[in-house]
Amino acid sequence: MNGVEALSWLKSVPMKLKLLSCCFLLFILSCQSFPDDISSELNQTTTASFAGNLTASEKTNESSFVPAIVTPPATVVPRASEILGKKQVPILCYHQIRDWKPTDSKVSRTYIVPPAAFAAQMRMLADNGYHTITADQLYAYLVTGARLPAKPILLSFDDTDLDQYTVAYPEMKKYGFKGMFFIMTVSLGKPHYMNREQVRTLSDDGNTIGSHTWDHHNVKKYEGKDWITQLDKPTKQLEQITGKSIRYFAYPFGLWNTAAFPELKKRGFIAAFQLNEKPDPIDPLFCIRRIIVPGTWNGGVLQQWILRDF
Ligand SMILES: [Zn+2]
Repeated sequence: MNGVEALSWLKSVPMKLKLLSCCFLLFILSCQSFPDDISSELNQTTTASFAGNLTASEKTNESSFVPAIVTPPATVVPRASEILGKKQVPILCYHQIRDWKPTDSKVSRTYIVPPAAFAAQMRMLADNGYHTITADQLYAYLVTGARLPAKPILLSFDDTDLDQYTVAYPEMKKYGFKGMFFIMTVSLGKPHYMNREQVRTLSDDGNTIGSHTWDHHNVKKYEGKDWITQLDKPTKQLEQITGKSIRYFAYPFGLWNTAAFPELKKRGFIAAFQLNEKPDPIDPLFCIRRIIVPGTWNGGVLQQWILRDF
């Protein structure tokens, strides 16, 4: 970005952001240019798309699809090393919350948490002073250094399973806990999955709704129109359901590659969540780490893992 381009961009920024922008601009003008690695990190900016920008016909007719509108940059993202240097917030990942069936394999039981175990885990968090935070709070902490409550933790739920709404959500409400629900839109309204109204209720109650693609295909294999099918259309649908912009993404199976980052960014996503791999050293916001909580963990075991792993 040269000085002229920077001035032009500054004109498009809302007043509240101009102070921050001025510091950034002065730095640019004084340096003229950064080494490539530094400038690319400084130029990583947040974007967001807004359901409020959709026309009435777009809201009612999903076939008249147009890509979500992306707003100008809002925040300068700090260097990757700064983000990676912060203390990690524990992020837990849940799938099904139900009792095991005899047909459940040993592997699937690592993904299925019986309601009693989930209740014990939530009780442990409450009894030990943990505070659930939202994805926006995590993002603000990582990007701007915003303060978090004591013992912060983020609860996330993948795959749209109905028991997340009927079992986990009421259990969380006992303690005022909020969560982040990653929805795969192909499942909405199908048996054993949440419907649109339930997703809207979660959103209205302060939980975060994120995207988990249309039908859970591996992001590493997308090409061409796959991005429209798996990202654009589900995002638009979730924005119509919640009335809010959808800015967080969870990779199906936790599988990710750096080629997905620009595709997510240009669609307005500001962070993406994987599972337990080492984060990318250049762009850690797009591969934030989570751990799957197995159904075999009681509250005490969960607490040990939180203390040991984050
Ligand atoms: Zn999934």
